[in-house]
Amino acid sequence: MSGQAANTTTTAALDAARSYYTHEIELGVDRYLGETSTVCPWCGSDRLRHRTTCRDLRQFKPGRFNLDECRDCKHVFQNPALSDEGLGFYYRDTYDGLNAERAEANLGSMSEIYRGRASTVADHRPDRPRRWLDVGTASAHFPAAAAELFPTTVFDGLDMSDGVLSGHRAGRIQTAHQGQLPELSASLAGQYDQVSMFHYLEHTRDPLADLDAVTQVLTDDGWLLIEQPDPQARSARLFGSWWAGWNQPEHLHMITLDNLTSALEERGFEIVEVVHREAHIPLEAFIVLATLLNRVAPGEEVPWRDGRPPRFAGLRRLVGKALFAPFVPVARFVDRVVLPRMLRSYHAYRILAHKKVA
Ligand SMILES: [Zn+2]
Repeated sequence: MSGQAANTTTTAALDAARSYYTHEIELGVDRYLGETSTVCPWCGSDRLRHRTTCRDLRQFKPGRFNLDECRDCKHVFQNPALSDEGLGFYYRDTYDGLNAERAEANLGSMSEIYRGRASTVADHRPDRPRRWLDVGTASAHFPAAAAELFPTTVFDGLDMSDGVLSGHRAGRIQTAHQGQLPELSASLAGQYDQVSMFHYLEHTRDPLADLDAVTQVLTDDGWLLIEQPDPQARSARLFGSWWAGWNQPEHLHMITLDNLTSALEERGFEIVEVVHREAHIPLEAFIVLATLLNRVAPGEEVPWRDGRPPRFAGLRRLVGKALFAPFVPVARFVDRVVLPRMLRSYHAYRILAHKKVA
């Protein structure tokens, strides 16, 4: 495609997107919020407290999202939660559409992180998994990286998005399952001796239903590897509503390690290993810095922002970058040294569990 043709396509896509967003925003984004729950969705307690209120700091789409915390079990959840239509509005052009290329490049550049995750299984499974299902696989870059450690394992992927189909076309997985795990689990019962869920459960509407489903999908002595952001990380308090782990409005449930451990044990799993330090993703302070830059000097025109791009947008971005550049090494130091080593604050936790033979 010639440069000019590509530009025309982009402009057409941007115009189409603008008419969609303008219409949706005029109707009011509050209509995307459901009923406020008076009880904890994890344990049923009515002892809730307000934890924080966030905005969409990734794309700056309009809206405010309230997170409540259960005083009894410490579960943190979006309350009121977005409707399916609302989630559609906020997910749109995040991993697909206008942002598809960038999202794909990001996911494709994380091989080292993926190999680290796979190594937790390698440490405990000299038998090597036979069939491995990666749930929430997106375009299946994790299976491709993990295959380097497990060349004889058959990898499949499951995801709601079309990405799982492109992952299959690219040969990164043998079978693509498109859809929701709880809806597909009956047809996949007992087929996998290894399942992984990386930064997945926090996106689901009913994580306990997903845990039931994954229990069904696993063989009787199957293994489950889960990683997700830790709502009890010190950085979550330090950065408040700007903590990257909240990732609003996508994350509906922020599950504590204790709650996940109990839920797995109730389903017949034994906890084999819990990983903190190696699950830390050292980007929290950097993301705060990048968010600030994007706020004061947006990088590009987006169709959900009102009116024309600000005057001298290009120049502002350039000056903004120059002003922020000296703080980048500081943010890196906070992420790599201050948080994990000095404060023992880790962005995420990873848990490897083994299903006991019934
Ligand atoms: Zn609770």
